[in-house]
Formats: sequence, structure tokens, C-alpha cells
Amino acid sequence: MPLSVIIVPCLRDNYAYLIKCSQTGHTAVVDVPEADPVFNALKELNWDLDSILITHHHSDHIDGVDRLRSLTGAKVTGAKSDAHRLPKLDFSVAEEDIISVGNEKAQILDTPGHTIGHISYYFRNDNKIFTGDSLMSLGCGRLFEGSHKIMWKTLKMFLQLPPETMIFSGHEYSISNAKFALSVDPKNERLILREKEIQTLLKNELFTVPTSLELELETNPFLRASLPEFKANLNMKNNTDEEVFRELRIQKDNF
Ligand code: ZN
Ligand code: FE
Repeated sequence: MPLSVIIVPCLRDNYAYLIKCSQTGHTAVVDVPEADPVFNALKELNWDLDSILITHHHSDHIDGVDRLRSLTGAKVTGAKSDAHRLPKLDFSVAEEDIISVGNEKAQILDTPGHTIGHISYYFRNDNKIFTGDSLMSLGCGRLFEGSHKIMWKTLKMFLQLPPETMIFSGHEYSISNAKFALSVDPKNERLILREKEIQTLLKNELFTVPTSLELELETNPFLRASLPEFKANLNMKNNTDEEVFRELRIQKDNF
């Protein structure tokens, strides 16, 4: 496994991810909700931080960036289109750009919907993607800036990735997402089982992330909006995929 990942819980329910190329020792962090937990984890691991990778501009993903930069000297990468509302960037990136963590390369994917200017970091060779608040475990981010159309397009892009891709999202939302998922997909056996697995993980103070795309395809209602049997459950057999997604997102916002 060439890329090691350490999960650092921050604030109430945020995650920062420390990642390290096992060949060169280069180290990065994806999002910095707060500096101290990330800095303490680095000290404990004896890792030197080279770069900070930002998914989007919300304060619960960037508030620790400036302090962590001054503590470590790490260089900061974020979306060029959001540079005006992100901490000062050393590298501004856009869709299709490639960034490196040592020998590991990540493709920048535009994943708007939760915010415009939201990006994800896709380590294709390693089957890992850091999705911030776009695709989440059993859910997707709330639409603060994007339309339903934009988020559905983003989710369709995720549907194209290899099923073995591991998804590292920005929050521990699995249990509330599972409760909503069960409300719209109550007979889904895999989902019923997964909700129990999540309960057990949380009871043992373990993380419910990362998750695989394969598992999301079977259980995440927002990725299932195009399936005929799923549409039929919602009495939306004749609606478009995007309309079904929209209905799900509205129901979730009011759940
Ligand atoms: Zn956010
Ligand atoms: Fe967030």
C-alpha cells in the first residue's frame, strides 16, 4: 500500500486526513478544520508535513490552515476558482491538474454542488479519493451554492469511478445518513446490515470512513436515484434521474 492514511477527527464531526507516500515519506493533509489535532498527530507519528490540500472554502475545512502552515511550513493547494475565499494558496489548481504527494499522483476533480469551486483529490493508482463534502458516506453534501442539476452531474461523475475506489469524506455523518437512507429504501438488505455495522463501529468509538464506492452503490440513496427499482419505490417511475435526486435531496433536508 503506497499511500498510508491516518484519520484525524476534528471539531464535532469533521475529519482531516493525513496521507504519506511510503516510498518517499512526503506527507500531506486533506482539509484542516483545526490545527492542533492535526499537528499533534504529526508529532506522534513523527511525520513532517509538506502540503495542505483544501477541498472547499467552508470554515470547518480551512480554519486551521494558516496556523498549521506556520507551524510546519507546509505549502497550501486549493481550487483556483475559489482562491479569493481560501487561505493564501501556494498552488491554485483546476480540473484535470495533477498534484503529487511524493511518488503518488492525484488528479483534481471538479465536484461542485455543496459549494461552487469544491474539488476532490483522486489518487487513481491507489484507488483513493478525498471528497470533502461532495460524495459522503451514505449521503452527499447539502446544496449551499450549487443546484440539483450541478450536484447530480457531480454524483454521476463519481458513478464512473472504479467500484473498488475508497471514499474519504469530510464528516462523520454515517448514522444520520443511514437513518435517512432507510426511510427511502427500507427493504434494502445491505443497507439494513450496514446501519447495524455503523452502530457497532460508533459504539466502539471507531470511524465509519472510508467507505468503498461499491458499498455506496448498494446503499447510498443519492447514488441510486437512476435505478428503476429505486424510482419505483418512490413512486417516481417516470421521472428523470435528476428529478429523483432532487426529491431525495429535498426530503433529506427536511428529515
Ligand atoms: Zn462544507
Ligand atoms: Fe463541512
